[in-house]
Amino acid sequence: MKTIVLTFVLFFPVANLLAGSTDSIRTAEGELKITPVTHGSLMLEFKGKVIHVDPWGRGDYTGLPQADLILITDIHGDHMDPAQVQKLKKSGTQIVAPQAVAQTVTEALVLHNGQKKVVAGLEIEAVPMYNHKRGPSPGKLYHDRGRGNGYVLTLGGKRVYISGDTACIPEMKSLTDIDIAFVTMNLPYTMPPEEAAECVKAFKPRIVYPYHYRGSDLKIFTRALESHTDIDVRIKDWY
Ligand code: ZN
Repeated sequence: MKTIVLTFVLFFPVANLLAGSTDSIRTAEGELKITPVTHGSLMLEFKGKVIHVDPWGRGDYTGLPQADLILITDIHGDHMDPAQVQKLKKSGTQIVAPQAVAQTVTEALVLHNGQKKVVAGLEIEAVPMYNHKRGPSPGKLYHDRGRGNGYVLTLGGKRVYISGDTACIPEMKSLTDIDIAFVTMNLPYTMPPEEAAECVKAFKPRIVYPYHYRGSDLKIFTRALESHTDIDVRIKDWY
């Protein structure tokens, strides 16, 4: 019995069981850990800081730590969930969001597209995310330009891009020096995998994670990038 228990402990460290599909990426200042939560929600851990991105109550947050920093991209319910924000807050938690979100999550520090700030000791830039053609009805867009924020974080020299809900917009194509990218593909709200791949080919992140991909055929995305051996496509359990 002792041997069985010992074998279990050696081969299935508890941390791994809890972490699920957490990825660890080396930076100039230690490991950056990436944990998918659900849909547009993820958790980053870096230098002892916990960053929750678009925390949404439909995700399973069991065992995940409270946030030092919460980033919110937009007003839609799968991105802005005030109840989940409350659950992940602790004393000193800072929240960064666009103005439209701060109308509801009033304690948020507002960043507009193009603004940069160091928050919780971490360098954050807000970047555009929007649709240029898809919308709920003629003349309307799901995401108007300027309302939501994508984010570029610089963590130990690694530039991490979180797209938010967006189409393949010129501002995404012209991103530079992105090490890790989280890119949405989800119709009708954002873009199909073909369009996401087109954008990824343009800004060439070193690693790309499709996320917020409900209903998309990820094989279309991976196939489109097959010949780009300099881009590491990582498929994880978002939806
Ligand atoms: Zn969304």
